Amino acid sequence: MKGPADALVTRAEHLRRTIRKHEHLYYVLLEPEISDQKFDALDRELRDLEAAHPELITHDSPTQRVGGGPLTEFPPVAHAAPMLSLDNTYSEDEVRDFEARVRRQLGETPLSYVAEPKIDGLSLSVTYENAILTRAVTRGDGKIGDDVTVNARTIRSLPLALASSRPGLKVPSLIEVRGEVYLPRSVFARANDERTRNGEEPFVNARNAASGAMKQLDPRQVAERGLELFLYSVARSSEPEARSHSDALRLIGDLGLRTNPEIKACASIEEALAHCAALRLKRDALDYDIDGVVIKVDSLSLQRELGATSKFPRWAIAYKFPAERAATRLVNIDVQVGRTGKLTPVAHLEPVFVAGTTVSRATLHNAEEIARKDIRVGDTVVVERGGDVIPKIVEVALGLRPPSAKPFMMPAACPVCLTHVAAMDDEVDLRCPNASCPAQIEERIKHFARRQAMDIEGLGDKLVALLVSDGTLRNIADLYTLEVDVLAQLERMGEKSAANLVASIEKSRGAGLQRLLFGLGIRFVGERAAELLSRRFGSIDALSQATAEEIDAVPEIGQAVVASVREWFTASQNQDLIDHLKRAGLQLKTLSAGPAQPRTLEGLQFVLTGVLPSMDRNEAKRLIEGRGGRVTSAVSSKTSYIVAGDDAGSKLEKARTLGIKVLDEAGLVGLLGENPRA
Ligand SMILES: [Zn+2]
Repeated sequence: MKGPADALVTRAEHLRRTIRKHEHLYYVLLEPEISDQKFDALDRELRDLEAAHPELITHDSPTQRVGGGPLTEFPPVAHAAPMLSLDNTYSEDEVRDFEARVRRQLGETPLSYVAEPKIDGLSLSVTYENAILTRAVTRGDGKIGDDVTVNARTIRSLPLALASSRPGLKVPSLIEVRGEVYLPRSVFARANDERTRNGEEPFVNARNAASGAMKQLDPRQVAERGLELFLYSVARSSEPEARSHSDALRLIGDLGLRTNPEIKACASIEEALAHCAALRLKRDALDYDIDGVVIKVDSLSLQRELGATSKFPRWAIAYKFPAERAATRLVNIDVQVGRTGKLTPVAHLEPVFVAGTTVSRATLHNAEEIARKDIRVGDTVVVERGGDVIPKIVEVALGLRPPSAKPFMMPAACPVCLTHVAAMDDEVDLRCPNASCPAQIEERIKHFARRQAMDIEGLGDKLVALLVSDGTLRNIADLYTLEVDVLAQLERMGEKSAANLVASIEKSRGAGLQRLLFGLGIRFVGERAAELLSRRFGSIDALSQATAEEIDAVPEIGQAVVASVREWFTASQNQDLIDHLKRAGLQLKTLSAGPAQPRTLEGLQFVLTGVLPSMDRNEAKRLIEGRGGRVTSAVSSKTSYIVAGDDAGSKLEKARTLGIKVLDEAGLVGLLGENPRA
């Protein structure tokens, strides 16, 4: 007998099936058929239904991607078949040698290959039992990995349940597939923008960001990161094995899993090498980092016949792109002091051309890293520019080391003020504990004057260094005591530029609390946090007296910001600084927003690209933000609108593939309401 309960079960099943289908179209095939609004409506209906009838919730429901609270650890899991790494080479000749070895072992057999981009990410093994995702395990040491199932479930392009789209193809009762998790470049760029804005250290590269995310114990944080993955092989299956690797890839795709569209079947090794060359040219246009191409013998029976050495399968080779590296000499290691006092060693190199630019500096991070790589002044080093933001030293040519080269030691005293150094909270880095250290004052003043902060024009780095070293500037408040006559006496500083600088400093008094808070350089307080704190507390006195609980209650403000703000306001020299700023007549309150504008764009995200006919980008940004919208730099599935002017490039193409609405300037003006610049 069928009752209303059956009708609900049927409806829930229908919704799950429909949502899965559209997730597959959107995240796997990148060909959405319905609008985001329609998709959200389906999702909402299912969530409401499940909330009213929790008994209807199934583990593989699309609403259950992020489930449960944080873990305390990832249980170790042994791989059913080891996850071997691949033999690799940088030379075409060695790829031909690989084919020669294969031929020697197999004799006269027709041979074909599959060439696939080698994605620079994190390997993952995923198991489905009775079509349901039951386990995801990292590669680990190849034999034992970490069970990261809860995190893998948050990856939207990984289906929680398999469904066959090929007539006659049944979903195997057990199948283990392997692939690579990665962070799309566009998402990586956005994440780094956000981190920089928040005063956090940016990620070194997309791979680190992806592997860091998969190691998060809280799946909610993983879900926010925006990871994606491609599946590239079947490790085991309950059904008779496919005959070839290309058949296996087709099977993976037909089960609803995402495969890479750049994979190509090649009739010969020469064709495979040609595909490598083509991918190398295409590399920068892809939305993920690749560091080479994997060439595999296509026939699975031949793969078995070839077998594996103790480390590598004999039927595959990774042909890595000639690295963007160059050798040069390490002239010196400078130790720089940042505005928080952190000491950072920086390599000073003989200039060398790598990957399109001249490099003369490279990051060394900290003393631990220098010791690990045994980098010494005078060494010939190999510098690499990859997906990383800053070039790095990857190798030391020990054979070329001058006999006099000594191991590098971090200084025991600050190189600038000679104060004895102290360990930072992380116990790896060192800092100069002297708040009056000229190097720190210099960095703080430079930060304070930045366009995004107090926007003081005409205050160049050299001038700051000079004014700090002669004792004129001991803190940011001293800027407001500068006089035209005195400045005009300085070398290369005429009456006019001195007057302009003083005028610009004068003007900055009215910049308002939000810019001031960012300009103070409080750790973790980036532009966004400054905006939120300024809006919530309204004045520096109110913020100064706010308790940790009150600050913590501000939406989007995290623990690190709370602790850092409290610490900053507790320090007596900072209280003195605020008194000085008050006496200097600075605006220490939130600027009134003028006639209130309706926040009609609240919750919408915009990306600006190309040149607009009559507005510059900052103006467009200000207008959008004035109505509560957000402007981001990278296009993603969260983007609501892209505003495109002339010469809009790849962002516009990406927006079109994601089905995001595109506006021109007139369209934006329309959206903002009538005459928004009045
Ligand atoms: Zn110092």
